[in-house]
Amino acid sequence: MELYFTEQQTDNQRLSVRVTKTLHHEQTQFQELTIVETPQWGKLLALDGFLQTNDVDEWVYHEMGAHVPLFTHPNPKRVLVIGGGDGGMVREVAKHPGVEHIDLVEIDGRVIETCKQYFPQISVALTGNPKVHVHVEDGIKWVMDREAEYDVIIIDSSEPVGPGEGLFTAEFYANVYKCLTGDGVMVAQTESPWTNAHVIKRAFGGISKSFPITRLYTCAVPTYPTGLWSFTLGSKVHDPVDADVHARFGDLPTKYYTPNLHLAAFQLPRFVQQITEEAAK
Ligand code: SAM
Repeated sequence: MELYFTEQQTDNQRLSVRVTKTLHHEQTQFQELTIVETPQWGKLLALDGFLQTNDVDEWVYHEMGAHVPLFTHPNPKRVLVIGGGDGGMVREVAKHPGVEHIDLVEIDGRVIETCKQYFPQISVALTGNPKVHVHVEDGIKWVMDREAEYDVIIIDSSEPVGPGEGLFTAEFYANVYKCLTGDGVMVAQTESPWTNAHVIKRAFGGISKSFPITRLYTCAVPTYPTGLWSFTLGSKVHDPVDADVHARFGDLPTKYYTPNLHLAAFQLPRFVQQITEEAAK
């Protein structure tokens, strides 16, 4: 009998991936954590039934979440990643030689531990890297308690249900603003323009309440609902489309991100542009 992992993406659409083995399944304090082996996407992590990452396409999301804000800020030294317990975002941040200190704040320690076991190439920077500091704490509380500490903050959250819900509010973004230095940059994953326009509107609207420069960009992640994925960037001073990315890129090893793609990612299809225009009203 063939086994499939099925993600209920919307009320009317599912994605099914053939599974050869269930490697791990548990109910943590916060969510249902599943890791399966699949012929199509290698090992795949799901939280509460939603696909989070997999061996094959993970680098698209992680490179675009990390390098766009890090090349927007001219000289990032201190970086905070909220969520992201799989370690993929931290791995990309750690590629920047100028970054001196990285805090990862993940609410669920079981995500960190199981990803270290099953996704060694994604979680590689979580062990033995003296720049990386891992904290099992709530990111919402973390930003409430701090001020002017980070040059870049990356919000690598799960879906806006369960523990990740509070990571999409205007109050949270205002605290992120407070936690950033005078010319700080933040980025948040904001789901698909096709199936989650309401999430983008809420996040974009909330970020633009605090940040004078707010811009949406997209990338193509085949395993995320509809394949078209968005990030929303908030910046106090530096505009990501004016960033000197070509000069600074050097020989950073990437598979998706390039300086040209950095700039192109902000060119939006008209229907996506309209979502951001409505959100900013
Ligand atoms: N790439 C993924 C995606 O968009 O599908 C996100 C991956 S990452 C594993 C998301 C993480 O955010 C989860 O491990 C979850 O435990 C964590 N998280 C959710 N709410 C959080 C909070 N309030 N503070 C810190 N981490 C949180």
